[in-house]
Amino acid sequence: FLSCLNVWKSYGNRDVLQGVSFSVKPGEVVAVIGPSGSGKSTLLRLINHLESVDRGEITVGGRYVGYTKVNGLMKPTSGRAKARAEVGVSMVFQNFNLFSNLTALENITEAPMRVHGVPREEAEALARRLLAIVGLSGHADHLPQHLSGGQQQRVAIARALAVKPRLMLFDEPTSALDPELVGEVLSVMRSLAEAGMTMIIVTHEIRFAGEVADRIVFFDEGVVVEEGPPAQVLDNPRKERTRRFLSRIA
Ligand code: ATP
Ligand code: MG
Repeated sequence: FLSCLNVWKSYGNRDVLQGVSFSVKPGEVVAVIGPSGSGKSTLLRLINHLESVDRGEITVGGRYVGYTKVNGLMKPTSGRAKARAEVGVSMVFQNFNLFSNLTALENITEAPMRVHGVPREEAEALARRLLAIVGLSGHADHLPQHLSGGQQQRVAIARALAVKPRLMLFDEPTSALDPELVGEVLSVMRSLAEAGMTMIIVTHEIRFAGEVADRIVFFDEGVVVEEGPPAQVLDNPRKERTRRFLSRIA
């Protein structure tokens, strides 16, 4: 469903991604782990077309999203938000990124109404259903500043779901949270995974990754070092680099 093929990305003279290839099947939950600075967020931003690839290609549902191929190079096209919406990729960020001047409900209805042209009544009905799913029915009219970090992140997940994505990207969704708030966010993500959502989760929560993911991708210095089922990558890694990383964070 998602395919990254030999993806390269540099900032200045720093090669952040150095030929990343991996793919995700429909319904699959993939956890991406790896050291700080290894390029995990960069990869998610490229998949979500917040930035463009230098070399290689990314397709979602068999389509180049927001790109055309010219002489083997991917050229960004205009209207990427729309392209992203059409193909159905949604992202949840480490720092929630809610609109601070909008209520929980308004945060969730914003994209369906503005990008997809969904009528207000319908968008609000959906938003209330999503708030119930993330356990925040009573908080529709709260501004982000009046919500805890865990509640804000659950609103962000509801907002990401509101555009009916086919692929959800999570970039360390719990790492900005106080420890006692991590569980409520992981539990929402766990139910999404169980409901069959296709997900890529960048996380330092190794135990959670092992429980929820179908596949673990270990990422280091801009390449996929090792990937496979959790039992293999986490418990019996083939590569020395994976073993070293796991022993440091255990
Ligand atoms: P972390 O676990 O700390 O979130 P990461 O694996 O997500 O790390 P990235 O955020 O993808 O790592 O960053 C990889 C490298 O790219 C870092 O060295 C970072 O400084 C650099 N980098 C990322 N974005 C930019 C940018 N917009 N301009 C310049 N350098 C960048
Ligand atoms: Mg990151």
